[in-house]
Amino acid sequence: MIIYFDMDGVLADFDKQADKMDIWKPENHKPDWKKAEEIGTKFWADMEPIQEGMDLVAAIEKAGYEIGIFSAIHLECGKKGKREWLAKHLPQIPKKNIIIVRRGNMKHKFAVKDSMLIDDKLENVQNYISVGEKALQFNRDTKFADFERVINASH
Ligand SMILES: [Mg+2]
Repeated sequence: MIIYFDMDGVLADFDKQADKMDIWKPENHKPDWKKAEEIGTKFWADMEPIQEGMDLVAAIEKAGYEIGIFSAIHLECGKKGKREWLAKHLPQIPKKNIIIVRRGNMKHKFAVKDSMLIDDKLENVQNYISVGEKALQFNRDTKFADFERVINASH
């Protein structure tokens, strides 16, 4: 059983970085990817870690589970920046356990058999469950006990 973590909103504070670098589109408060691309890899590589998510990784790792990353970004520089972030903050995760797809709503199409996804987006969690795998929606109150409840459930 491998436990995959989403990055943005779980391990890395994308929103805070987007505030700091001012990349939100004023009309709909969505990221302006052109602006992020202009900033380049450091936009992603310099995101602040989310302590609650990092603590959850540590607890699950300590319990003996294999850890992986399941992230989404459509930009090449974003992919590179995310890999740099992981090398800096979670260097123990083997490269073979890092999956980066183009869009979050594609994650379930690449679902790994006998795995669990921890993601802050409900849609991604529901989709992952719909293909027969386990998933837990993360927020900053999510505890190891919540993970245990999902992992121990029969389906
Ligand atoms: Mg996310």
